[in-house]
Amino acid sequence: MAALKSEYRLALEAGAQALDAALSGLDAKGVLTRAADIYSGELCAVSSFGAESAVILHMISETAPDTPVLFLDTHKLFEETLAYRDALVARLGLTDVRTLAPEPGHLEADDPEGDLHRRNPDMCCHIRKTLPLIRALAPFKVWISGRKRHHGGTRAELPKVEIQDGKLKLNPLFDWSPERIEAYYDKHDLPRHPLVARGYPSIGCLPCTAPVDAGDDPRAGRWAGQDKTECGIHFTEDGTLVRGAE
Ligand code: SF4
Repeated sequence: MAALKSEYRLALEAGAQALDAALSGLDAKGVLTRAADIYSGELCAVSSFGAESAVILHMISETAPDTPVLFLDTHKLFEETLAYRDALVARLGLTDVRTLAPEPGHLEADDPEGDLHRRNPDMCCHIRKTLPLIRALAPFKVWISGRKRHHGGTRAELPKVEIQDGKLKLNPLFDWSPERIEAYYDKHDLPRHPLVARGYPSIGCLPCTAPVDAGDDPRAGRWAGQDKTECGIHFTEDGTLVRGAE
């Protein structure tokens, strides 16, 4: 069994190297176009419809608007995020946005009062984010993320192609700066998440997101006061538990 897992890991690593080579020299939009060609029907995106999400979603709308976009509704989100999702989907013409939700049975068993985020935030993220996402990713080989190195922390060394939860993960904006993101919003007149103007440069669930002061680490308001910096727990294909990323 261990040998089989090892072979699977080797195949994943070979796939990541091949995809990285196939995308060499392309800009972010070119990366998305090429990936959609290579992995037609096996490619999706994951978006939080957060502070910077419109950039990658706009590029997807211009390259392959029927790409499945997975959106995690943890049932703990800001109302503004749900409204922003609807407005952005309509504006961009995305045709396959899939809203994921936690299993009712998991909520009843582990979070009947809805306060697990205070008692055990890792477990809360696990049942509200990680498990629904892993389930929804099952049909896909590659998923697109809008994460960037400038977010810092565990993202500071983010590569263009990585491996997570037994899938290839593509980060076309991995090396984009905040200034470049801003310029893209301006150039394409993209709407901003309404909470950005209220001091939220990074937006997650309502109980775990606070506004930050100008000039602070943009993710300082996520799980403020805790050592937690990312959404939850992930498992490698050999069963190793790792901190994951949103
Ligand atoms: S961010 Fe907070 S509320 Fe949302 S799933 Fe994680 S712990 Fe729960």
